[in-house]
Amino acid sequence: MPELPEVESICRSLKPIILGETITELLVHNDKLRWPVLANISEQAGGLTIRNIARRAKYLLMVGDKGSLIWHFGMSGSLRVASIGEERRRHDHVELLFGDKVLLRFYDPRKFGSLHWGGRDPLVHPLLVNLGVEPLSEQFNSSYFAAHCRKTTVPIKGLLLNAAVVVGVGNIYASEALFRAGVNPSRSASSLSSAEIEAVCRAVRDVLAQAVASGGTTLRDYVNGKGEPGLFKDCLMVYGRHGEPCKACSTKICRSVVSNRSSFFCPLCQPIRSL
Ligand SMILES: [Zn+2]
Repeated sequence: MPELPEVESICRSLKPIILGETITELLVHNDKLRWPVLANISEQAGGLTIRNIARRAKYLLMVGDKGSLIWHFGMSGSLRVASIGEERRRHDHVELLFGDKVLLRFYDPRKFGSLHWGGRDPLVHPLLVNLGVEPLSEQFNSSYFAAHCRKTTVPIKGLLLNAAVVVGVGNIYASEALFRAGVNPSRSASSLSSAEIEAVCRAVRDVLAQAVASGGTTLRDYVNGKGEPGLFKDCLMVYGRHGEPCKACSTKICRSVVSNRSSFFCPLCQPIRSL
């Protein structure tokens, strides 16, 4: 599933291609995505000049003078540049044409992605307005995170996945960050020491920054806007590695279910009790 680094990678790869360009046509071939695509979105988006491309949580925002397009990639969505005249594939649900210069296609076999029309400030859209802080921003610091940890007994992994607290830290990167911080995913958030909270915060930032720098993680068929796969998979320490030896201590990586999600951890590097 495209997570924050993958969406950031799509955003960065599209910036030099469509910034300043004007949408001449938006074609919806299938409007039954996770939410139905707005019936008049083609009229709304026609003539929109892209003034800014940004990411908020796992949403990609294309912002123009009269409104914005808000994309979510769901489980299997991608937005990539196609050659003009290239045959459309079965799951290319939306096409965005910028004159005869650029053709973008939104491809999503599982159709959990979505496309919304936002105002000139997409951040006030109902889907975005109540989101928590960005993990790579200065707002995500240990005093902010400690305040949330202290008031809940949910597992620390569950707190990292809570988008009202911090956005865009999905299952892969929560597992990886907790390994780097040496904290077991099932520990109650309120049981973490100040030093552990600081370590988790730092690890979340480090692992996401590293993943962004590597272009994200390609597990199935994720590619960025230019069709390039992410390279972070080679850096995974625990995610999807249950039964394999820990890269730090050779103990077998375990899998358990925490907050209804698969969690991967090393029982020696991430003890269930604080050392
Ligand atoms: Zn280990």
